[in-house]
Amino acid sequence: MNNYKKAINSYLQLQGLEALQLRAVLFDMDGVLFDSMPHHARAWSQVMQEEGYEFSPLEVYLNEGRTGSDTITTASLAQRGTVPTKDEIDRICKAKCDLFATYPETLPMQGAIELVNKVKACGLTPMIVTGSGTPTLLRRIEVNYKGLFAPEHIITSFNVKRGKPFPDPYLLALEKGGFKPHEVIVVENAPLGVQAGVAAGLFTIAVNTGPLDEKVLSDAGASLIFPTMPTLADEWENLYQAITEK
Ligand code: CA
Repeated sequence: MNNYKKAINSYLQLQGLEALQLRAVLFDMDGVLFDSMPHHARAWSQVMQEEGYEFSPLEVYLNEGRTGSDTITTASLAQRGTVPTKDEIDRICKAKCDLFATYPETLPMQGAIELVNKVKACGLTPMIVTGSGTPTLLRRIEVNYKGLFAPEHIITSFNVKRGKPFPDPYLLALEKGGFKPHEVIVVENAPLGVQAGVAAGLFTIAVNTGPLDEKVLSDAGASLIFPTMPTLADEWENLYQAITEK
């Protein structure tokens, strides 16, 4: 039995399910579809430090997946013991988005367009489930992934009250797509994103595209971990076979 089969079987056993009957693949956006995390890390840490927070770029990777509002609230509670005001949240989110928009254009993650095309060619529905509310980037989906994601299949920070690591964004994706947990798999790159997929009861694949140790992704509950998006794109046929064969 290969590693994919083993990972699938232990997921099924844990969830009390018989089999995966794959119909959709739920992709996270930053660090999975777009190589945007270095820019997010730079922008968040600069703006937060200007606001008097201690916030290194590494901190951004550890918070990755949270909505902007949750990121600021988490830092404020930890460093000041207070909940930030709505004005503070709005001011920081706007400053971060404005700074992000001045950076060079973010490119799709290498291997990601190929992977989404392969998913679509298998007759599966690709969806996006992101904690992002960055307009510059959301507009780029239709440019770089033209025709691959239907607008109603894109869940952003604007659609949910509670972002990752809560399961809410993934549960909303199931609802919007009309899918059951055993009919989808998740592709995430960040520990909090993996936690969200796992909390929603979904088979969650991690791709370690950032600077964090692989262990944080397995600790978060990832069923499989790939080192890069091109590796996952290359392995797609083998993985799909393991998912679909009886
Ligand atoms: Ca991500």
